[in-house]
Order: sequence, then C-alpha cells, then structure tokens
Amino acid sequence: MFVNLHTHHPLKNNSGIEIVNIDLHHLPNQLPPLCSAGIHPWHVNNNSIKDLETLQRLAGQKSIIAIGECGLDKLRGPDLNMQMKFFNVHIELSESLQLPLIIHCIKSYSEIIKLRKDYQPQQPWIFHGFNASAETCQQALKHGFYFSFGNSLFKKQSKGSKAIPLIPTNRLFLETDDEKQLSIALVYQRASELLKIETSQLQAITKNNFKQLFNVD
Ligand SMILES: [Zn+2]
Repeated sequence: MFVNLHTHHPLKNNSGIEIVNIDLHHLPNQLPPLCSAGIHPWHVNNNSIKDLETLQRLAGQKSIIAIGECGLDKLRGPDLNMQMKFFNVHIELSESLQLPLIIHCIKSYSEIIKLRKDYQPQQPWIFHGFNASAETCQQALKHGFYFSFGNSLFKKQSKGSKAIPLIPTNRLFLETDDEKQLSIALVYQRASELLKIETSQLQAITKNNFKQLFNVD
C-alpha cells in the first residue's frame, strides 16, 4: 500500500492512501475520500475572493484533510504581494481548522521558512515537490517542515535526488503531483534506490507519517 501525499489525478479503485488536490473551479459531484483544497499561487487574482468562499465552504467537510496546495511561486503567477496575501489566508485556515498545509514553493523557500518562523503555527507544513539545495533543506528541517518528493527523483543530479537522503524518515512523503503517466509505485521504487532501503520499509514509514500528521480514522 502506498501513500501518495499529493495528486491531481485520483486513481480508480485505489487501494492505497492518496490525497487528491481539488480543483475549486471543477468540483467533482462527490469528493474523493481524502482531499486537499486550496488556491494555487498561479491562480490567485482579484477574483479569488469567490474561490475563498468555495474553499471555506468545502474545508469543513470530513474528506478535506489538508489545506493546499497553496504557497508562493516567483517564476509564475501574479506578483508576490498578491500571492502572499492569499497564502496568509491559507495559513489562517489551516490553523483554525487544524489541518496540515500542503505547500507549492518555487524559489521562495526563504520567504516561507521565515513565515513559519514568525507565525509559529501548530499545524505541520509540508513542502510538496521538494526540489531545493541541501542548505535550504537544513533550514527547513530546523524549522520543522515536512517534505514530499516526486518527479525530481528521476533526475539523478536534481536537487531533490540529492536532498532526499538528508531527510529524517519521520519527515518524509512521496507523491505523483500532476504527472498522469507517473505511478506512485515507481516513485517509491526510485526513492528506495536513493535511500538504499526496501520499498516495503518506505511504505511503512510514509504510512506511519500519514497517521502522525493527518487526523483520519
Ligand atoms: Zn500539485
């Protein structure tokens, strides 16, 4: 059984655990059993107040087990002030509903680490698709972040591939994100090669981490 921390494409007949990222503009008739909901930093704009209403309405439902993906992206999306404004709303929501935060972060690690330092939230914050330097990784570890890895692991020289062995196993998750062709089994296989442990061990580790962080019965 695999835990997939973040996917945009729910599997049919999935026997594992997957957190499906909900598209607020295309809500399914029925929510998958485990989901996250948030406004992606690429999509925030002056009309996002409407999306916030949808989010607030959804977020109280039982199948929403995390807030996100949300965050900051310096390469895409509107200006950082606008992104920051909405990211802060997600932080507040995560705290008030006691749901972990799933974070999209591109070239904004120092800003997000600083936010956690200043805000001192109770909820876990998870960098999804983590792909940053060892130095950033150490900073984020120091401030209690969790890390989820995906397609960057398939490039041997990527920052993600180099960072994953630095993560204590109790802070680790794996994911497929938006990659339709990528199976979560393959991500586990690749990660287990990089970590030099058995896939079954990795499955036990992420299952336990999931139990620790998410309030699911
Ligand atoms: Zn995503």
